[in-house]
Amino acid sequence: MRIDFEDLTTHDETEECTVCRAQDVVSFMLVPAVAAWEHANQLPQHSLSLHGAAALIGFMMQDGARREDIERALAGLVDDMEQQIAEERAFGGPAQGNA
Ligand SMILES: [Zn+2]
Repeated sequence: MRIDFEDLTTHDETEECTVCRAQDVVSFMLVPAVAAWEHANQLPQHSLSLHGAAALIGFMMQDGARREDIERALAGLVDDMEQQIAEERAFGGPAQGNA
């Protein structure tokens, strides 16, 4: 199975944009669930984020994704995330973590 990282990381400017829909699911469902699971299992904050991300990446590798492609895609997404966090802080937006 070939994973098309370009397709998975590029906005298509439609209402049905895969990137936007995936980001919405993560923000509104996955992130709150992970925080609740960490709390319920008395695990340190962000432990499930880190290990969950690694495990999900492992599934992608089992499906044939190459580490270089994953790292390139992640670097771009993390760059975007950094920029978004900086903008939110500049405009006094939602605080992440223990600000
Ligand atoms: Zn989009």
